[in-house]
Amino acid sequence: MMRIGSIIGGEERNDRNRETLAVKNPYNGEVVAEIVLAGEEELDDAVKSSLSVFKNTMKMMPAYERARILAKAAELLEEQKEDFAEIIVQEAGKPIKHSWAEIMRSIQILRYASELSKHLTGEVLQMEADVRGSDRLGFVKRVPVGVVAAITPFNFPLNLSLHKIAPAIAAGNTVVFKPAEKTPVSAYKLVNLFEEAGLPDGVINLVLGTGETVGRALVTHKDVHKITFTGSLAVGKMIRETAGFKKVTMELGSNSPNLIFEDADLDQAVESLLTAAFAFSGQVCVSAQRIYVHEDVYDKFLGKFVEAARKLKIGDPRDEETDIGPMIEAAAAKRAKEWIEEARSQGAVIETGGELDGNTLSPTIITEVEKGMKVVTDEAFAPLVSVMPFKTEEEAVNRTNDSIYGLQAGVFTKDIDRAFRVAESLEMGGVWINESSAYRQDNYPYGGVKQSGLGREGVKYAMDEMTEIKFIGVKLAK
Ligand code: NAP
Repeated sequence: MMRIGSIIGGEERNDRNRETLAVKNPYNGEVVAEIVLAGEEELDDAVKSSLSVFKNTMKMMPAYERARILAKAAELLEEQKEDFAEIIVQEAGKPIKHSWAEIMRSIQILRYASELSKHLTGEVLQMEADVRGSDRLGFVKRVPVGVVAAITPFNFPLNLSLHKIAPAIAAGNTVVFKPAEKTPVSAYKLVNLFEEAGLPDGVINLVLGTGETVGRALVTHKDVHKITFTGSLAVGKMIRETAGFKKVTMELGSNSPNLIFEDADLDQAVESLLTAAFAFSGQVCVSAQRIYVHEDVYDKFLGKFVEAARKLKIGDPRDEETDIGPMIEAAAAKRAKEWIEEARSQGAVIETGGELDGNTLSPTIITEVEKGMKVVTDEAFAPLVSVMPFKTEEEAVNRTNDSIYGLQAGVFTKDIDRAFRVAESLEMGGVWINESSAYRQDNYPYGGVKQSGLGREGVKYAMDEMTEIKFIGVKLAK
C-alpha cells in the first residue's frame, strides 16, 4: 500500500501517528493510496518554506535555469507517461484514452513554460511624452509575485495542476500546492518529478489535506501573495470573500452551450459533441451541457446524436475501448441521477441513458427541457446534455447568454459572417467555431466571464497574472 505525505522543504511528512485518508479507485473501490493528512501547522511550515525559498533562491534563479528545469521536467514526464496515466486511471477513474490525452497536453504545458520563461519582457517608456519628462528614463519590468497558492480540482489532476505550477516557476515564483483530496497521488508524483528535474527543495511545497482545513488556511495566510484556484463556484466564492488583498485567479464552472445552425455539417457536429458531452462522464468544466439546434435540422441532429451516444462503450477505465467510466464518487452520480429524475417529473424526455450502475451513469440526452430545470440551469458536471430547438439566430444567442456562467461555447455553421456575428454576441471567455465548447489547447487565454471565473490561464496569460508590473525611473544629470 502506498502511503504518501506532504512534501515541505524537500522532506516528506509521513509520520506514522498521523490521521490518514484513503484514496479509492472510483471504479472498483480499491484503495490506491493512503495520504497522511496535513493540518494547519504543516500548512504554515509550507508557506514559510515557500517564502524563504522565494527570497533566498528563486528570486535569484536566472531565466535560463528555470527554462532548463522546466524542459527537463517535460522530458521526465514523457519518460514516465505510463506511470502517470495509470495513476490518473486509478485515482480519478478517468478512461485511459482520456488520461493519455491529459498527459500529452501536460508535457506541452511544461514545454511552453520552458520557452516562455525566457521571454518575460517589459518595456522602455517614452518619458519625454510628458512635459516634465525630458532627461528621464522609464522602464517597466515584470517581477514575480512571490508565493503562489495553487488549489486544484480532481478532474484534470495533472493538466490543471501544471497550468498553475509551470507558469509560476517560469515567472520565478514559489508554490504551495494543495491538490484535490481525491487525486493526490499524481500531485505527489509530480512534485517528485520536479525534484528529479533539479528544482530546488521548497520551490513547490505540497500540502496533502482537506480543503476545509489546509485549503481555507492557505487562502487566508498572510504570506501568500497570489491564489490560483480551479474548482466549483461555491468554493470559489468563499475564497474570493476571504482572500483579502491577494491577487486571485479563478477558473470555475459552467453549463457550456453549443449552437448548431441549419447549414452546419451535422456529422462533424455529432462527432465533436459526443466527446464534448460525455468524455470523462461530463466531469469537464467546458463539457457540452446545452445544445441549441435550428428547428430545420433538429430531428435529424437528435436522431444521429442519440444513435451515436448509444454506441459509447461503458466499462473499466483501464480498457482502451472504454468511453464512459465511473464518476468520481457515488454521491456525484446519485446527485446527477436525481436531477435527471426531477427533470423527467417536470416534463422532460430522456431520449437515452439515465441509468445508474454503481458510480457509473450512462450517457444521457434530454429533450423538452424548460428554463429553470437544474439540468440546463445549473452546472451538471455529469454525462448529461439537453438538446433544444430554436427558430432564429437572435433567439439562440439570447438563450445561450441567459446563464450565470460564461466559459466557452461552440458554434457550428458554414456561414462565416454569422459565425463571427454570433461569436461576438456570446457572453463567453472563449468561442470556438465549428468545434465544440469542450476543446482546449493550452496556449491560448482560457477562462470565464460572469460567474465562470476571474482572470485567464494558458501559460503566457497565467504568467502575466503571476507577475507584478514594476516601474523603475531614472533622472539623468544635465
Ligand atoms: P471543488 O470541490 O471546488 O474543489 C477544488 C479544490 O478546492 C480542491 O482542492 C478542494 O479540496 C479545495 N477546497 C475545498 N474547499 C475549500 C476551501 N474552503 N478553501 C480552499 N480550498 C478548498 O471542485 P472539484 O469538485 O474538485 O472540481 C469540480 C469543479 O471544478 C467544477 O465546478 C468544474 O467546473 C470546476 N473546474 C473548472 C475548470 C476551469 O478551468 N474553469 C476546470 C476544471 C474544473 P478538497 O478536495 O480537499 O475538498
